[in-house]
Amino acid sequence: MRRLSPERVKVLRARLSQDLPSVDANEESNRPESWRSRANCAEDNVNPELFYIGLDDEVRQAKRICLGCVVVDECLKYALSRGEEYGIWGGMTVDDRKKLLRRRRREALQRGVRR
Ligand code: SF4
Repeated sequence: MRRLSPERVKVLRARLSQDLPSVDANEESNRPESWRSRANCAEDNVNPELFYIGLDDEVRQAKRICLGCVVVDECLKYALSRGEEYGIWGGMTVDDRKKLLRRRRREALQRGVRR
């Protein structure tokens, strides 16, 4: 395997950190109180346990609720930035989120290699 120069590693690291969600606690989307009240899952008729049971039927139901949620982006970004290991956030299970992060890292690396 070809070794990357220290400058190249620095550029790639910077690019990776741009592509991954911010973990800045002061950022608006990282404060759930700024968007949680508008969430579909915050409605009285929604059972919050649906989002944590992890069985196929419940996962499907929870994802359906997320589909029309107006704060889906904020929710997903929040979960990604915190490395949430449980539950459905932004319409994604923990496995979905891990795949998304892996794909983003791979794409960032590929972009870096091509340049
Ligand atoms: S995207 Fe789903 S889990 Fe996130 S706030 Fe909306 S309904 Fe709740």
